[in-house]
Parts: sequence; C-alpha cells; structure tokens
Amino acid sequence: MNPSFRVGRSIHVVIPPRDEEEFREFLLQRLGVRENDFFVRSVAEEATRERFEIDKRKRKIELTFRRFDGRRRKKVASISEFFIYQPLGKIAKLIDDLQRNSNDLMKLYTIGDTIEGRKILAVRISHPRKADKRKRVLLDCGIHAREWMSPLACLFTMQRLISTPKGRGFIEDGWDFVIVPVVNPDGYFYSWSKPAARLWRKNRRRLPEGEIFSHCNGVDLNRNFPTAFATFPNNCGADYPGPNALSEPESAALAGLLQPESGFLAYVSVHAYSRMVLVPYAHKPGAHEHETRYKPVLNAISEAMNSIRNVSMPYEEFYEFGSPPELLYAVNGSSLDYAYVAGSVEFSLLYELSPSEKASAKFANPFHLPIEQIEPTLREFWSGLQAGIKRMLL
Ligand SMILES: [Zn+2]
Repeated sequence: MNPSFRVGRSIHVVIPPRDEEEFREFLLQRLGVRENDFFVRSVAEEATRERFEIDKRKRKIELTFRRFDGRRRKKVASISEFFIYQPLGKIAKLIDDLQRNSNDLMKLYTIGDTIEGRKILAVRISHPRKADKRKRVLLDCGIHAREWMSPLACLFTMQRLISTPKGRGFIEDGWDFVIVPVVNPDGYFYSWSKPAARLWRKNRRRLPEGEIFSHCNGVDLNRNFPTAFATFPNNCGADYPGPNALSEPESAALAGLLQPESGFLAYVSVHAYSRMVLVPYAHKPGAHEHETRYKPVLNAISEAMNSIRNVSMPYEEFYEFGSPPELLYAVNGSSLDYAYVAGSVEFSLLYELSPSEKASAKFANPFHLPIEQIEPTLREFWSGLQAGIKRMLL
C-alpha cells in the first residue's frame, strides 16, 4: 500500500527531474513549507547507492562462507542470505535449497503464468499425514513490486518452518501453509532491472500510452480483486485497478487459491511499509461486526511483536492495528477484503512491515529499509505471525 495522507504525517512525492525547480518553488512559496522540512533526492541515484550497499553486504557474506568449515559454514551462510534483498532468480534458488532440505514437507507448484511468461510459484509446507484442515494458512508476498522487504518475509517464514525446531513443531502439529513468495514476479523483476524502475509497484501489463510514458503500463494487482472493485479511466496512475476485476493473471491466480472450498483459517498478505497490521474492511470505513473477533488475535500479535521490538529495535515505533480506512485510506478491490468476503477465510490480515511512517521521513526511498534492520523486522514479523495464527484457533 501507499503511505497515508493523514495530517501530521510525512509524505513522499515522485516527480520528473525536469520539474524539480518548479516543485521546490511550489512548496516554499505557495505552500509555505520550510526549507528544513523537506528534501529532494534522485530515485535513480538512490537506487544505485542501495545496490552498492547490497553488493557490499553480499561480498561480506561470501567472506563469511569461506571462513567457516563444514556444517557451521553452511548454517551461517544460509541464514544471512535471508537477511538481504534478493533478486527474483536468487529467491527461486533459496526456495529450491529449502525444498531439498525439507524431508518432503515442502512441495513447489505453480498457480499461474504472468503476462511476460514467468511462473507464479506457490509453496506448500505441511506434513503429509498430520495436516489438519482447520489449520490452513495462506501467506502471500510481493504483490507490489517495489516492496522488497515483503518477499523476504515469505522466505524467512519458509526457512523457519523447515529449518528450526519451533517451525517444524508447527508442521508436526498439523499446520498447513501455502506460501506465494512473489505474487507479481514481472513487476519485481522490473524493479530490479534498472535504477529508474526501483519504485515500480504494478504488474507489467502493456496499456495505452505505455509506449510513450512507461508509467502508463501496468495494473495495481491489489486493486484488481472483485470485492468493491472500482475502475477509472486513467491507467497512468500507480494504483490503476485494471479494466475489470481479475483482468490480470496474477490476481486471478491468487483468487484461485482463495476459493471457499480451500477453507483457509487465515489469509496473511505482506506489504511494506508503515508498521501496521490491517484488517477488513479495506473498502468501507466504520465499525464492523467482526471487530470483536479480531481483537484477541490482534492483541496476541501486538504482544508478540512488541517483545521483539523492545529488544532489537527500540528505535522504531510500535505497530498500529486497525482497518485501512482508519489508519490509511479506503481501498477498493483489495485481496484483503476479497479473501474475507468471497474467499471465506476466517481471518484476513495485511502486514505493512518496517519502516514506520515516522521513521520513513528520514529515508529517500522508504521501500529500502537499511540492511541492518532487515533481520529484526523479519524476526518481529515471524513472532507476530505465530502468535496470531495460534490465537485464531481458540
Ligand atoms: Zn503494498
């Protein structure tokens, strides 16, 4: 999702380089914003700097590889690879590695093909004999291309479930996870392809005027679901919903998983950023009959996440909990609402990972969380996820 437009919050605005002077004038003269209250950075330069930082960290991981021997070396190297932004090809490789070490608890399959012909991968992690249909969880990541933290949350969850005693405990206990690590592989690939594409959000549907203005291509997949779907004619916006509901293969593939007969207890969709956990309804404000049912779950998540935050990231804000209209703005055609209304999941949740909006004011690109904050953010997410799904069963 996008950051909010609430009064008193920071806001990021993307403008073409040629408009910089005029925009500065507008802020200073017309809006009366003070010089110290805003900064202007180049998206492309920032993306180049980020890439340099990522490569530097990867070289460091390589060195650690070499310094350790045998099992220890493998362990150290493998976990650190989950704490760094990874391109699409490497994500697939990490998943293959996990699958090989999963004792057949992890199965890979595809749920659809994208416009550019990529496979949309899904992973099922469950015990062939002990899987309990009351304990089915659907987790998805990477529906918005630029939210590079999101696929890491899916990867880290797989790593925990396969490679840690606690995670294995969930599977032994009958939990049955379906995980879609990158719902929008075309968009994700594109956001890695060149510095100027770093803030790409939509899929890669070719649309009118896309030949001339590249931002006019693409559909926002998280506006393309049938629940309260509403389109508008301007396909150049970052949140263009598409011509009709489920017009896109990526959203259709996810909707296929969400049919009522799948019987998921929970649908958890991972985005960035804002440090929030959002619940239905996304499309209409006001109090809802299901809120009392969500409350104990949100409390359990909050408690679990705060215990991590207090230790690892006391510099960050607490997570906020509520519906999109309460905390951000109303959203039509979201997977959050679709899962809850049409998919008949019992609980539908959306995580917006770090940074918080307050902390984001310091970042030129808030979709690039500083690398040293990735690990605590993922540990916090995993902690909230476990606490939440356990509480849902009570
Ligand atoms: Zn998002």
